[in-house]
Amino acid sequence: MRNNRIGLKLGLIIITLFLIVLVFLGFSIERMFTNYYYARMQTETEELTSHFAVMADSTDAMSEQTMKTFAEFSNVSIFNMRQDGAVILHSGVHDSSDRTFIRTSDLNKIFSGKKVNLLYEDTTGHRYFVSGQPIQGGEGVASALYVMSSTEQMEQSLSGVRNLLILSGMGAFLLALGITWIIAQFLSRPLLQMQKATRKIAAGELETRLELKTRDEMGALAEAINDLAVDLQRYRDTRQEFFANISHELRTPITYLEGYSRVVKEELYETEAEKNQYLDIIYEESVRLQHLVDDLFDLAKMEEGKITLVLEWVDLSELAEHAVRKVELKARGKNLSLSILQSGTASCIWADSKRMEQIVLNLLENAIRYTERGGIKVHLLYEAASATFIVEDTGMGIPADELPYIFERFYRVEKSRSRQFGGTGLGLSIVKKLVELQEGKIQVSSKIGEGTRFEIRFALQSEYGEEST
Ligand code: ADP
Repeated sequence: MRNNRIGLKLGLIIITLFLIVLVFLGFSIERMFTNYYYARMQTETEELTSHFAVMADSTDAMSEQTMKTFAEFSNVSIFNMRQDGAVILHSGVHDSSDRTFIRTSDLNKIFSGKKVNLLYEDTTGHRYFVSGQPIQGGEGVASALYVMSSTEQMEQSLSGVRNLLILSGMGAFLLALGITWIIAQFLSRPLLQMQKATRKIAAGELETRLELKTRDEMGALAEAINDLAVDLQRYRDTRQEFFANISHELRTPITYLEGYSRVVKEELYETEAEKNQYLDIIYEESVRLQHLVDDLFDLAKMEEGKITLVLEWVDLSELAEHAVRKVELKARGKNLSLSILQSGTASCIWADSKRMEQIVLNLLENAIRYTERGGIKVHLLYEAASATFIVEDTGMGIPADELPYIFERFYRVEKSRSRQFGGTGLGLSIVKKLVELQEGKIQVSSKIGEGTRFEIRFALQSEYGEEST
C-alpha cells in the first residue's frame, strides 16, 4: 500500500472532484424538479379556483351542490367566506374549524379584487397550496373563495424523483470509483516500475532496463533512466579498465626499477659498462614514470573539467617553429629529416599557447618515435576561415582497423610498441581532448609501412570574436 501512495492520492483527488460535481448536479436537478412541480401545482390550483369562482358567480340554485361535488371530485377543500370571516360554504376533507391559513391581510386583498396564493402547513404537518379569489356580487366583491389543494401527491412524485436521483448518483459514483481505480493503476504502475528500476540501478544492478515504450512523458522519463543506466555502466566499465591499465602501466617500470636497482646494489654486474647500462635503464624508467604521472594528472583534470585555458592570440607559425627546434635533436639522433612549410597568409588563433605547444610537441614526438627512416614534414596551412597544422611522417603507420581507437586512453597499436619506444599510451587522448577544448578538430590518416598524417584544424576568428568567413 505504501508503494502505491501516488495512485491513492490521484484516486482521492479524482473521486473528490467527481463527488463535488455529482452532489452539485444532483442538487440542481432536484431543485429543478421541485420548482417545476410547485409551479405546475400552483397554476393548477389557481385555474381550479377560477372555475369555482365562475360556478359561485352563477345564480343557479344547483351551483352550491355542483361546487361541492366538483370539490370532492377534484380532491380539494373549498371555503367561501364573507369579509367578516363567516363561512358561507365549506366542502372537502379539511376541517372547517381550522382557518389559520386565512389572514386578514389576504382577505382584504381579495375583497379589493386581487388574487392570493400561499403554501400552508397544518398542525399535522400536511401541506396545501391555497389559492384565494374574489367572487363578484351585485355591488363589488361578495365573498372570498379559498381552494386548498393537498401537496401530498406532488410530494410523492418528488420523492420518487429524489430516490431515482440518489440511485443513479450512487451508480455513477461506483462506476467512477472503478474507473478512477483503473486510471490510478494505469498512471502509477509505470512510476512504481521506474522507482524499482532506479533502486536496482542505485544498488549496482546497472544492466536493469525499463520496457516502457509509451510516447508520453512517462516513456520519456523511462528512456532517460535507461540512458542513465547505460552511461553509468559505461562509466563503471571504463573506470575499471582505467584502473587496470594504470596498475599495469605502473607495475612494469616499477618492476624494472626494483630489479635493476637490486642488481646494482648487490653488485651483480661484471663490468663498469654493464653497471652504467643498468643505471641508464633505471633513469629511463623513472623518466617514463614521471611522464605517466604527469599525463594521468592532465587527463584527470580534463575529465573533471577542472582544466583552465589561458586564451590569447597565438601565432601558430612561431609556436610550430619553436616546437620543431625543441625536437630537432631527437630527430637528428635518429637520422630523420625535419622540415617546416607554410602556405597562405599567417594569422593568429585564439587559443592557450602552452596547451597548443603540448599538442604540437606530442604529435612531433610521436612522429619521431614511430619513424625509423625518412623524415617528418610539418605543414602550416592558412585558409580564409581556418588554420591547419599538419604533421606527416614516413614511419611504420597504423593499421586502418586500429585508427578509430588510437585516441582512447592507453590504446597502443601493438601492445609492446610504445613501451619499446617509451610512450605512455595517453599522449593522443590528451591531444584530442586539448584540441576539442579549444574548439578544434583532429583527423588522422595512415598507411602501414608508408607513414602517418595528423591534421588539426582551428577556425579563424576575427579579433572581435566573430568567425571569419
Ligand atoms: P604513446 O604515448 O604510447 O605514443 P599515444 O596515445 O601518443 O601513446 O599513441 C597511441 C598509439 O598510437 C601509440 O602507441 C602508437 O602505437 C600509435 N601512434 C601514435 N602516433 C603514431 C605515429 N606517428 N606513427 C605510428 N603510430 C603512431
